Amino acid sequence: MTIVTHPGFPRIGARRELKQALESHWRGDTGADALREQARQLRARHWQQQREAGVDVPPSNDFSLYDHVLDTAFAFDAIPARYRPLLEPDPLAAYFAMARGHQAGGIDVHALEMTKWFDTNYHYLVPELAAGQSFQLRSRKAVEEFREAQALGIQTRPVLLGPVTFLQLSKTVDGSDRWALLDALLPVYAQLLGELRAAGAEWVQLDEPALVLDLDEAAREAYTRAYAYLADVPRPNVLLATYFGALDDNLALAAALPVDGLHVDLVRGRAQLDAVLRALPAGRVLSAGLIDGRSIWRARLDEALTLARYAQGHVGADRLWLSSSCSLLHVPVDLAQEKALDSELRGWLAFAVQKLEELRTLADVLDGQVDADAALRPVRAAQDARRQSPRVHRPEVARREAALDDAASRRLKPYAERAVLQQDVLKLPLYPTTTIGSFPQTHEVRQARARFLSGKLGTADYDAFIAGQIEHCVRFQEEIGLDVLVHGEFERNDMVEYFGERLDGFTFTQYGWVQSYGSRCVKPPIIYGDVARPAPMTVRWSQYAQSLTTRPMKGMLTGPVTVLQWSFVRDDQERARTCRQIALALRDEVRDLEAAGIGVIQIDEPALREGLPLRRGEWQAYLDWAVESFRIAASGVRDETQIHTHMCYAEFNDIIEAVAALDADVISIETSRSRMELLDAFVRFRYPNAIGPGVYDIHSPRVPSVADILELLQRARDVLAPEQLWVNPDCGLKTRGWAEVETALRAMVHAALRLRGES
Ligand code: GLN
Ligand code: ZN
Repeated sequence: MTIVTHPGFPRIGARRELKQALESHWRGDTGADALREQARQLRARHWQQQREAGVDVPPSNDFSLYDHVLDTAFAFDAIPARYRPLLEPDPLAAYFAMARGHQAGGIDVHALEMTKWFDTNYHYLVPELAAGQSFQLRSRKAVEEFREAQALGIQTRPVLLGPVTFLQLSKTVDGSDRWALLDALLPVYAQLLGELRAAGAEWVQLDEPALVLDLDEAAREAYTRAYAYLADVPRPNVLLATYFGALDDNLALAAALPVDGLHVDLVRGRAQLDAVLRALPAGRVLSAGLIDGRSIWRARLDEALTLARYAQGHVGADRLWLSSSCSLLHVPVDLAQEKALDSELRGWLAFAVQKLEELRTLADVLDGQVDADAALRPVRAAQDARRQSPRVHRPEVARREAALDDAASRRLKPYAERAVLQQDVLKLPLYPTTTIGSFPQTHEVRQARARFLSGKLGTADYDAFIAGQIEHCVRFQEEIGLDVLVHGEFERNDMVEYFGERLDGFTFTQYGWVQSYGSRCVKPPIIYGDVARPAPMTVRWSQYAQSLTTRPMKGMLTGPVTVLQWSFVRDDQERARTCRQIALALRDEVRDLEAAGIGVIQIDEPALREGLPLRRGEWQAYLDWAVESFRIAASGVRDETQIHTHMCYAEFNDIIEAVAALDADVISIETSRSRMELLDAFVRFRYPNAIGPGVYDIHSPRVPSVADILELLQRARDVLAPEQLWVNPDCGLKTRGWAEVETALRAMVHAALRLRGES
């Protein structure tokens, strides 16, 4: 009988129970024991749900109180010295200090750095390692959770992050060679594997997603060394799990490792099945990741069945496991909760629980337990309906796409000429000051929105409230002397959701939460159909804000790549195409803003970099369509209209050409933390257009002084032409309080005046 399994289940809970439990613990309302008990109940429920969905072997230790990479570092005692004083008497306090920092009882330590888990929106904590450090088994969480399931009568497969991916994702704080630590790490892995076997585990899953990346020789050698070592120790059978793409040039390496089974991603890596089957040594289990663990769409079971049958023909029924492509961590828990979605849309979707049911159906059909036609008929019907639905396919959108020509993604004149025309209109001083868009989203603002959404506040009253906030914000900016103003974004909950709610082709869930990091979750919009803009989205408030002042008011939009990147997207057309449709909708918005008298328009693209594919070889193709989309959105205006963009991340070096190709008149970037180091990429490239390198770190409550800001500006002025330099914070101000913002922005304006020699 074919085994149904999967690499991991969401941890947060269908109603974000883990979030509530964690935050209550962090507030001091519940103790560690209560938190552990809540977590235990959640795990029990999840195993139960998986069993009910038809999973034969659920994973264990896929749960985490914060992050599985942190769990791994903690379990092997890779705990930096600064957290060690917290280990006694309460290891949990040290664990959370690594995750979130700690400021109490005379201890003040910052958290580990956090970064994106491969190309997902999940973030992990980056372990800090150093040359010569030792490892030891500090936590037996994997054994305990295996036993916990065992006590419930459930035989699980414990999941561990594999040693090579663990080292690859860590950083050495002294710059030493990470692979030099492998020999010290392996015996501790062996010890843990031995204990799992002693506890009765038959299989263990070692996650090595780094095998789908471009690997250097040292990493490849580490794989060979690590798995040769682990082959000779007493342990359960090892399932080597790869996901987030095809193995490609690492296939031979992975297939040669002495393990007992291989999990492969057959969604993104669909084309690798044949090669995998040929490379897989006889006797190995193949865990076939056939159902997409990263999308929210119902699977095309016919296609999955074809692949499963083909695989079964090669490895045999007893050695084929059916699985999702990757952990279900990246999708919401249960579609059954979405009562507000209309039934047509609901019929197209599958969340974690539904994906497991799909796997069960697939296995039953494969084993001849159920009739294939009867089982697949409803799936085919839903698929056909989706394929033909007028909600999905809009001829007018397709016509517009077809009519796009090169001119649509080009401004009329080159930047140098535009800059002159814009200056004639805007008459800005040297080193113009502005902000990135949002002003503090105070409790009052959030409360008004909540009351409006629940019907307690009428539309007219809510609008009056927003108008009042905007007016206050405009007066404040005038008073402190900013040059280009913003309306403050008080009407927006979230920079993607706000636009998704106003565009056709998008829908929203009630409980479709996905863990971003720790207790933080996001609820991405779902793009299900051709994107179109039924009406202007931002014109009204921008126009109102402009009516309050004679200074230029900057319109504020979220760019096409960022909207795409932070949504669940269609699986029935290329991402590039969906992105272009969003770009066309935004192009209309940009033109409408211009027609309404808005002469400066910012199109934010903070997610441009995170869309980069995992493999370098695929970067250029992505950057080409991403840049084109931005340009389509931005290029429908007159040369006098000034287009800004904004990006906030650390690394521009390897994408600077693409950033320059956006041809935004002004770009604002995050630079204050790195003390302007991040400008280097622009300087080296001789970036020609204007730049606002952030001078106020909005991620910190610390308020910069005039001298702080002036020092940063002087550094920037040393490397940029004077007419290139703008003065602005690193990012939007929505998470800050008014008091800090007031002082910081006054200091910023003051510093700009000093730089101009006017004060
Ligand atoms: N305009 C947005 C804001 O100011 C930009 C946010 C972002 O870069 N993530 O909040
Ligand atoms: Zn930003």
